[in-house]
Amino acid sequence: MALAAEAAELMEHFLWVSPEASAVIAGQTAKRHKIEEELADIVIYALEFANITGIDVAAAVEKKMAANAAKYPVEKARGRAEKYDEL
Ligand SMILES: [Mg+2]
Repeated sequence: MALAAEAAELMEHFLWVSPEASAVIAGQTAKRHKIEEELADIVIYALEFANITGIDVAAAVEKKMAANAAKYPVEKARGRAEKYDEL
């Protein structure tokens, strides 16, 4: 629950903002510091969860990246936002 709350705090900085304006916001020194703090909170809670549950984060990331590569082959997915079953 804390992880979701921290993710929401990060997203608040970009709510209703275009991708272009989001990049500008992320580059503003004062905002960037707050954004970095929220991102750190998310990573801290995620790593704490991994420690408590005994999940090997590096192995889980490698496994998921391989699954994503199989689901979203570059030749089909590049430049598209559709879900894997709609490519
Ligand atoms: Mg926070």
